[in-house]
Amino acid sequence: MKLNIAISLFFLIIHTSFIIKPIWGFQAHQTINRLAVFTLPPNMMPLYKKEIAYLTEHAVDPDKRRYVSPTESCRHYIDLDRYAYFPHNLLEALALHTQIFIINDKKDTLKLTGYPNVFLHQRDFFLKSKSIKTFFKRDSIAIADTTYRQFVFNHFLKQYQDGTWTIPNEAIEKLFEKERFITKGRFKKVWAKDGLSATGILPYHLIGMQKRLTNAFMQKNKQAVLKLSAEIGHYIADAHVPLHTTRNYDGQLTRQMGVHAFWETRLPELFADKYNFWVGQATYFEKPTDFFWKIVQKSHELVPKLLEIEQEVSKSFPNYKKFVSTTKNGVTLTLQTQEYATLFHEKLDGMVEQQMRDAVLAVGSAWYSAWFEAGQPNLNHLFEKMPMGEPNLDTTAYAKKDKMLGRDEGIIWKE
Ligand SMILES: [Zn+2]
Repeated sequence: MKLNIAISLFFLIIHTSFIIKPIWGFQAHQTINRLAVFTLPPNMMPLYKKEIAYLTEHAVDPDKRRYVSPTESCRHYIDLDRYAYFPHNLLEALALHTQIFIINDKKDTLKLTGYPNVFLHQRDFFLKSKSIKTFFKRDSIAIADTTYRQFVFNHFLKQYQDGTWTIPNEAIEKLFEKERFITKGRFKKVWAKDGLSATGILPYHLIGMQKRLTNAFMQKNKQAVLKLSAEIGHYIADAHVPLHTTRNYDGQLTRQMGVHAFWETRLPELFADKYNFWVGQATYFEKPTDFFWKIVQKSHELVPKLLEIEQEVSKSFPNYKKFVSTTKNGVTLTLQTQEYATLFHEKLDGMVEQQMRDAVLAVGSAWYSAWFEAGQPNLNHLFEKMPMGEPNLDTTAYAKKDKMLGRDEGIIWKE
């Protein structure tokens, strides 16, 4: 009996701590989605205004899903400082970052590809590694751009979030067809390993979602339009958080642990009600890839300034005045004091406000652009109930996988 109580208590604590996880604060996500509605043109406004409660409430669904679906977490960030170069297109990113391993006829395990051993030069992909040299007796192997992309499409794109997966021998033989006199019969086992998810896939995921939202408008599928609108709003908001674009996402590499929640949860909670959210009208963008990449790159440029200011503020402020204990949802938390937060907020000189404003406008613009791209369907004539046809959004589909790809965001000080 006692054990049961202890177990229940344990799950209660886990559950409650999930609710208060430091993620742009639930409040900030909901505010951004709600305000984005007012940036829309008159043809879209009636539906979005009518559904404003849904769009607000479901702004946080992707964060709730992080603890159910192991493939969810990596969609919320991208570590732009992990690699020197990120292709803007998912297929190309997978081509460069997925690792291919083989067991050859001598029973050696060789890693044939993976960053930085794959690169694109003009119209060919080049594979260059020690293993390539061992296996082919040549410094590098060139594979035609279209051939490699087709291979990536067939054998990486659908599988990459599986962690590791098998590649059929025939497929790899076909890939190296030009070298068949070397490879014939020598591939004993071939498998691939995901080298991208741990780095985060936020902009790639946004590009995919924008396409799905556009399709939902084309199909006049009300349920899908609303769900995808609410959820893309979440990821766009995340893309405006500088610490969602760096390896040093919680200042853990510079002894600034807790800075993630301080910036994205504590500050908006204390100060967002005074922000000016008149951001103007949503605008149409033609190229989602450019639009979303520009957002994460701009956020990333703010990282050094953000960390520098936090360090400066932290040094200048007496330790005993920094934190206060408070109880929220039945959990005791240690949060930054009003005075300490005010100083950080002032030194940031409007950074949080600007990022939130930009997020509101970007969410409205994404909704508007998808609708426009779909041929501006009449939103009074959407089909009420239609299946989503959207396996990617079904969390139960991932229930069989148990390992989280990616990570949690930052810590919250808790007693
Ligand atoms: Zn998130």
